Amino acid sequence: VGARLKAVGEVGAGNADAASSRILVFVRLRPMSRKEKEAGSRSCVKIVNKKDVYLTEFASETDYLRLKRVRGRHFCFDASFPDTTTQAEVYSTTTSDLVEGVLQGRNGTVFCYGATGAGKTYTMLGTMESPGVMVLAIKDLFSKVRQRSHDGSHSIQLSYLEVYNETVRDLLSPGRPLLLREDKQGTVAAGLTHYRAYSTDEVMKLLQQGNKNRTTEPTRVNETSSRSHAILQAIVEYRSMDGGGSIVTRVGKLSLIDLAGSERAVATDQRTQRSIEGANINRSLLALSSCINALVEGKKHIPYRNSKLTQLLKDSLGGSCNTAMIANISPSNISFGETQNTLHWADRAKEIKTKVLTTANEEILKVPDSETDQVKLVLELQKE
Ligand code: ADP
Ligand code: MG
Repeated sequence: VGARLKAVGEVGAGNADAASSRILVFVRLRPMSRKEKEAGSRSCVKIVNKKDVYLTEFASETDYLRLKRVRGRHFCFDASFPDTTTQAEVYSTTTSDLVEGVLQGRNGTVFCYGATGAGKTYTMLGTMESPGVMVLAIKDLFSKVRQRSHDGSHSIQLSYLEVYNETVRDLLSPGRPLLLREDKQGTVAAGLTHYRAYSTDEVMKLLQQGNKNRTTEPTRVNETSSRSHAILQAIVEYRSMDGGGSIVTRVGKLSLIDLAGSERAVATDQRTQRSIEGANINRSLLALSSCINALVEGKKHIPYRNSKLTQLLKDSLGGSCNTAMIANISPSNISFGETQNTLHWADRAKEIKTKVLTTANEEILKVPDSETDQVKLVLELQKE
């Protein structure tokens, strides 16, 4: 029925400014925990002007003056969040533009990186009282879709999966491991359940249930594994009829990722090749680092196929995607080494260039005049 046309650059400029041609990198400092305080730790991180992060091994200015030479460094990111930052502020600075892009048919990805205990899950999932980026993003998607319901029909489908030990599992419907395959929307997990959710509370419950299904360490039964990566995806499909009698379909994919703890990646990196293969612990995180290095160096071949995580993120790192990374850090000097690693990693990620985005995932289907009324009726019914 009719000709299939590909629209190029028809959708508004949105995020297609200079900044979106690379990954945006943010740092979030969490408050000192009670445990850290009790251990007598001092703060070794200072955030200034909402951008600059100073990392020093010594806390106070007198320490600094007395010792003159301070091990540490200064970093600068797109934004750096001090420990007083609210979940809403983190969401609006890091993710809300990406959500807008998804509604216009562009893919968007946000991932949290950092050591275990640095605040990744708090940032992504949060609590009932202070919901995190995953929940706020879906809430925002719902309200934006509702605002636009007059000009077309939207559907939002959610999926939540885990990559653990190079095995992909559905967190919303646990069962056998899922196989990955390629299709026109990128790498997909075959058989993954897609939920249609209608309210924010429902989403929070769904995600909390999903998190309970995350793999637990065999030795620490009640703790969620720090080695599992959790990926929430929302696929938003928008369908409308334009003035010229064509159906416009736009599909945008939002991926929100709570990565495994980065500490083991570093530890295994320094060990022998054999222990990496044997443990299989963080092949995905190591592969993510290799892909980032290859992307930064502008290599032709990016080794996405080296792990399940990078296969899944293929269209979310180098391709036409808006990407943000949130590096989570603890303020405590006990975690100085981890914090330094995380900040170096984040600093490197700043250099990844993604393609400048002018195109949306959009298809226009010309409907013959004789069928126009019928199609209008179907679209109207889909609005519900
Ligand atoms: P990770 O997922 O990186 O291992 P968590 O998100 O589980 O770390 O955080 C570790 C602990 O610190 C949790 O108890 C969490 O509630 C708390 N926490 C982390 N970030 C914050 C924050 N910004 N404000 C308050 N508490 C936080
Ligand atoms: Mg966690």
